[in-house]
Amino acid sequence: MLTRNMTKAVRTNTSASSAKQQTAAVLKQKGQQIVKAECDHDVIRSEILGKQHHRSTKLKTAVSQAHQTQTRPTEETGNIQVKPRRKSIKVEYDSTAGSRDKELQDRNNPKKSRWEPQDWIKQLDNIREMRKSKDAPVDQMGAGKCFDPRAAPQVIRYQVLISLMLSSQTKDEVTAAAMKKLQAHGLSVENIVQTEDKTLGELIYPVGFWKSKVKYMKQCSEILQQQYNGDIPDNVTDLVKLPGIGPKMAHLTMAIAWNTVSGIGVDTHVHRIANRLRWMKRETKTPEETRVGLEDWLPRDLWSEINWLLVGFGQQVCQPVYPRCSDCLNRDICPSANLQKTKSPSKGR
Ligand code: SF4
Repeated sequence: MLTRNMTKAVRTNTSASSAKQQTAAVLKQKGQQIVKAECDHDVIRSEILGKQHHRSTKLKTAVSQAHQTQTRPTEETGNIQVKPRRKSIKVEYDSTAGSRDKELQDRNNPKKSRWEPQDWIKQLDNIREMRKSKDAPVDQMGAGKCFDPRAAPQVIRYQVLISLMLSSQTKDEVTAAAMKKLQAHGLSVENIVQTEDKTLGELIYPVGFWKSKVKYMKQCSEILQQQYNGDIPDNVTDLVKLPGIGPKMAHLTMAIAWNTVSGIGVDTHVHRIANRLRWMKRETKTPEETRVGLEDWLPRDLWSEINWLLVGFGQQVCQPVYPRCSDCLNRDICPSANLQKTKSPSKGR
């Protein structure tokens, strides 16, 4: 009995073992198929990735080369055209604000070595030499010559302010003629406040922007009467608050009316010549930028003289359209010599 049972058990075990083996074989076959499929997949995937990596490497190399050579990223590099992924965004900002901040920082940094233009001392000496005859319009009719010297001091200061206001965008001869007519009428704060706009217009015509200047003269005179007891402010901050008075006029008013150097008065002549002589670290677009740039390096004891020197030099020699480079003592050391239209030397000044 025992033997029969053992035989049965053995048979049972044998058949179970066989089933297990069959199952294992099936599983092994399935497993091999799965593994093969995964291997195939991996091969395909690695091939794809390999190509992508290869393309990516080529792309990176091309971009790197484009950056290194500073070529535009759309330039063809081999078979790959490098294009920016998206359009660059143009950021609008005040281009002068950053440079002004930097200049202020530089100015306040005592360790920063001072920049100054090449040859400026020699160029300035040459301009002094060319200006020594003092026969330019500014010498005869500039704001420093247009007031009535017999008037009371505060009336003289007021007349200086008005002559500077009228001189903007106006030839010295025209400003001087208008000042004469105003003085004959009575050029004091009280008188101008009471004068009709129409009459004022007739007195100052044809100065540039005469209609606006009539308005500024009236508004300015009323403010001076009400807030300054008929005198003018003695500082730039308050002067530029007056209608029609900008930084250039304010600094020149301080120099002429109060005999105080507060800054450089930069008009179109000073602005133009400072750029032609490369007296700016970088080219400036406005007289105000030029003022900041000049004040950064020009010794303060020259601030008062520089306006007078350059205005007359600009009227006679370094003119806006036809600079007389062949007559100029700076022609061998000026970076702009003969770069502009020049007038024939045979024609008079
Ligand atoms: S060389 Fe010509 S551009 Fe230069 S400062 Fe003289 S006139 Fe002006």
